[in-house]
Order: sequence, then structure tokens, then C-alpha cells
Amino acid sequence: MPLESPNSQPINAKPMQVGITGGIGSGKSLVCKIFGILGVPAYDADSRAKILMTTDGILVEQIKKEFGSLSYDGAGGLNREFLSAAVFTKEDKLKKLNALVHPRVAIDYEQWVHAHAGCNYVLKEAALLFESGSYKMLDTVILVSASKGVRIRRVLARDTHRTKADVEKIIQNQLPEEEKEAKANFIIRNNESELIVPQILNLHERFNSMN
Ligand code: ATP
Repeated sequence: MPLESPNSQPINAKPMQVGITGGIGSGKSLVCKIFGILGVPAYDADSRAKILMTTDGILVEQIKKEFGSLSYDGAGGLNREFLSAAVFTKEDKLKKLNALVHPRVAIDYEQWVHAHAGCNYVLKEAALLFESGSYKMLDTVILVSASKGVRIRRVLARDTHRTKADVEKIIQNQLPEEEKEAKANFIIRNNESELIVPQILNLHERFNSMN
């Protein structure tokens, strides 16, 4: 049963949780920005994970214990070079780092959802929602889809430090587009041949009418 707010308006104990996923450069962040203009909040799981690695005391201690205190610089910032070298090509170490980070992000996300209890629905953006299995905790998932060629072009224009080979390697570690399409509940086609705003407005109307 919905809770009553102080001014007697019913509020949701938990809003509907909508995942936004898609390969690198598919346009997830852009789509979330447009939903944001409509007043829908989005939790960017990948960015939050990076922030929590320096701000969540429990996680910081766990990372230091597992990888050594050199994982951080004197100012408490992440020593990315050191940590990347520690996990680079060592799959078990990368798994270990993810196993430390994911539960802390999950707690942070839960708190964020509760802080947005008054919303009809909220978005959780993550590149690897299907790969990590965390999509199972959400009510529904939107895939932002774009061809590999378009995604590579976008990422190279956005991230000047990356080479084509870097981007292709990241794509190789993500689920193939067809598999993601089969798992998604909704698809926003972002190949620059269809307008994305009408697709987003259509979903916005649908989610608002569901809750
Ligand atoms: P990542 O997985 O790397 O975080 P992402 O899926 O969040 O990527 P965005 O950052 O939203 O992707 O988009 C990648 C780049 O492509 C950005 O510079 C964005 O502005 C641009 N872009 C995305 N969609 C479009 C579009 N329809 N038209 C023009 N530019 C676009």
C-alpha cells in the first residue's frame, strides 16, 4: 500500500526501477540527460563506482587490504596506474576488485532509490547490466542500441585518449548486440537515422501510466 506523505499525497515506497544499458558509445548518458529534462532522475552506476572507490571508507579499506596502500595517492585519490597494472591481464584480480566494488555500489544505489521514493520511476544506467546480472533486480530494462561502427566513431570523437583498438577491445568484452536486444524489454534505436526524443517521450508516457 502506498505511504501517505505529510500533505496527504500518496507516495511510492519504491519507484519503478528502469535500467538503461547499451554498449560503449551507444548513447546511454545522452538518453539519461533527455529523461533528466523530463524530471526523471538517473543513477550512473559506472561513475558512482569510481566515486565510491575514494569516498566510501569501507571500500577504501578493503581495496587497500587487497591491493596495498599504493592503490591511493597521498591525497586519498585513486592511483589508477597502480591499480590498473594490478588487475591488467589478471582476471582473478579484476574479479576480486569487482567483487569489492559491486556490493558497495548496490548499497549506495538502494539508498538513492529510497531518496527518490516520490518519483514514478527512476533510471539506473550501467554499461554491463546484463553481463553483471544486476538487471534481474530491476523492473524493466531499456537497451540503447547503435551499430558497432557508429559507436566506435562516437567514442573516438569523445575520448581522444583512446585508440580504435582500445574501443574494439572493450566491445569484445561486452555482450553482442543481438543478445542484449533479446534480453531487453525496450529498445531505443540511436543510430542517428531515427530521432531519439520521440522514442524517449513514448517510454516516459508508458512508464508514468504504469505506476
Ligand atoms: P559509455 O558507455 O562510454 O559511457 P554512453 O553509452 O553513455 O557511453 P554517450 O556518452 O551518451 O554514450 O554517447 C557517446 C558520444 O556520442 C557522446 O559524445 C554523445 O554526445 C554522442 N552521441 C550519442 N548519441 C548521439 C546522437 N544521436 N547524435 C549525435 N551524437 C550522439
